[in-house]
Amino acid sequence: MFKRICFTWRQMRVKKNQLKIFWGNPANKIKTLLDLPVDFCQKRNIKILVLDFDGVLAAHGEDRPHSEMHIWLEALLKATNAPKICVLSNNPLSIRERFFKEHFPEVIWITGVPKKPYPDGLLKISKDLKVAPKQICLIDDRILTGVLAAELAGTQVILVTKPVQAFNKHCLKECFFMMLRVLERWYVS
Ligand SMILES: [Mg+2]
Repeated sequence: MFKRICFTWRQMRVKKNQLKIFWGNPANKIKTLLDLPVDFCQKRNIKILVLDFDGVLAAHGEDRPHSEMHIWLEALLKATNAPKICVLSNNPLSIRERFFKEHFPEVIWITGVPKKPYPDGLLKISKDLKVAPKQICLIDDRILTGVLAAELAGTQVILVTKPVQAFNKHCLKECFFMMLRVLERWYVS
């Protein structure tokens, strides 16, 4: 944990300019997954879409995607020219992995890699699936984990600005992550 904080601290300073440029470009942001344009992957030549779990597919602490994201994912996987889908979460609980195996067996669940912002998970996807980092796009709700990892790995990245939250169920957790998001947005703006 301490090692990861030190790594984040060092890399956020090294990549500060790139993070500011990223944040300043509205094309890099969507409110939620549901706002991702249908032709997004074709337009950006993306072969693999990598989804974060907490905040993107579900609220923090949930063991399955939010019902709206579930429907979105089903539709995406049925589409012609659908990209390959991976999930790269900093909290890859086995209960979540089991849910995906049961409902979305075609989705690749990434485990056994250092947590974001270490770029290892994205680089593993690139290496294992033999796809250049530029043709991979991560969708994440955190700047100093997901976006920073993508900057380090050389992949594309889209930031979700209105993450899935459940203050009624996980108030403390959600408040903690809301505070982190405010701080990291302040850092890059
Ligand atoms: Mg997240």
